[in-house]
Amino acid sequence: MPQIRKILIANRGEIALRIMRTAREMDIATVAVFSEADRASPHVRYADEAVCIGAAPSSESYLNIDKILEICEELGVDAIHPGYGFLSENAGFAKRVKEAGLIFIGPSPESIEIMGSKLAAKRAASKYNIPMVPGTPDAIDDRNEAKRIADSIGYPILIKASAGGGGKGMRVVENEAEFDEQMDRAVSEAQAAFGDGSVFIEKYITSPKHIEIQVLGDHYGNIIHLFERECSIQRRHQKVVEEAPSISLTPEIREEMGRCAVDVARSCNYYGAGTVEFIMDENRNFYFLEMNTRLQVEHPVTEMITGVDLVKEMIRIAEGHPLAIAQEDLQIRGHAIEIRVYAEDASNHFLPDIGTLHTYVKPDGNGVRVDDGFEQGMEIPIYYDPMIAKLITYGENRETAIRKMMRAIDEYQITGVQTTLPFCRFVMQHEVFVNGSFDTNFVSRHFNPDVLSTKNDEEVAGLAALISALLSDTLHESKPVQNEEVNANASKWRARRFTAH
Ligand code: ADP
Repeated sequence: MPQIRKILIANRGEIALRIMRTAREMDIATVAVFSEADRASPHVRYADEAVCIGAAPSSESYLNIDKILEICEELGVDAIHPGYGFLSENAGFAKRVKEAGLIFIGPSPESIEIMGSKLAAKRAASKYNIPMVPGTPDAIDDRNEAKRIADSIGYPILIKASAGGGGKGMRVVENEAEFDEQMDRAVSEAQAAFGDGSVFIEKYITSPKHIEIQVLGDHYGNIIHLFERECSIQRRHQKVVEEAPSISLTPEIREEMGRCAVDVARSCNYYGAGTVEFIMDENRNFYFLEMNTRLQVEHPVTEMITGVDLVKEMIRIAEGHPLAIAQEDLQIRGHAIEIRVYAEDASNHFLPDIGTLHTYVKPDGNGVRVDDGFEQGMEIPIYYDPMIAKLITYGENRETAIRKMMRAIDEYQITGVQTTLPFCRFVMQHEVFVNGSFDTNFVSRHFNPDVLSTKNDEEVAGLAALISALLSDTLHESKPVQNEEVNANASKWRARRFTAH
């Protein structure tokens, strides 16, 4: 069995660090790659070795397959972890890695290929008894036929790009009169984003929950699931808050969804870590959406409730070990919530807000985990996803996890850019979130930017930081309590300002 001794992480920021930490625990050396924009990033310093792979745009750096393979050869690397995004779901890359005699820490190129196409994924999964959203089984080439199908399914319908990802190429059609216009838009969006204009139709589920199942498979056909993650709080069809377990699942539905997820993975001979996504309607009918063949951004909530280090399992599977965990060994313990701290302005349509992190102080303490890739004084580059950090809290039940999250958000001090922190605090205290009746329309139904005064908040946080800096200068170590009090009061002040009207 090959033992991995040196891993190159073909990624950046928080996920590169996250992977390196586990590698270090396993006595595996790490190689970081970085673009010119990321020279000062913590992931570069953390690694045993680090190599600049090019200019800031990802096409010239993190997506440069030749360069990455060259570095592996030069530095005697024996495995590559792709993280998420960038090359993680690129079947061609996985193949090249294999051909170069290296281990790809992920599934086979064939599994990536099948699941990379939403239509091919549905075809593969149809070998098993897995519920699918009503819709067209193939890409649309005859519009009149597609309209007939849409009519029989019933409006509203959703046009989706087969190669889709990141919520792109998706269009809701309310009635037949809109059909052609929305179709043209979806096709051109899909063509521009993925170089593939194939689209298909699904029934639009009007009040769905997005629930996904984490799976792990080895090279010997063993596949297990690690329960669900609830990811319904989204903006632009993209997740901002995730939790495990879901307040909406009964043990019976959980078991059935878990079985379906394992079958989806089986349908493409899956090994490694993967995620099978479902949507669930108001009557708790669930349908298979797609499978993501990589480590997911929100994987920490699963780690918290199961005690499994998913990156460690990925590495062990890649080395050829059989799964060390059986389905019966797994149990849900407690509750975990993750919020994504994006440099975005929630009061301005969640548009990215790029700038310098003038203040950056992380929360801490019992039940709080922060996975991040930035430090105070650093700039958020415009070239990549504007996620600053993931804040995860864990408690013995959902209420405790929510309380810890509110406390942690209040402790988090970020100035210089607008962030999703105030929005996430708004979510945590909203009754629809607390009672679990929310769905993917939470933002459009319940969020109004007027409930936040984020601009003021930045000023308040800046002021709090200034006051505490002044106090620590004048009081030194002698009266740290007062210093904390200032922060605590500033937090309460901020907390009140976020309260929903
Ligand atoms: P992507 O790969 O672009 O992320 P997904 O198929 O995973 O696309 O869908 C992303 C989100 O879009 C889902 O979480 C859900 O909120 C919404 N969505 C997808 N399909 C449907 C549908 N048939 N009805 C209602 N909402 C949907």
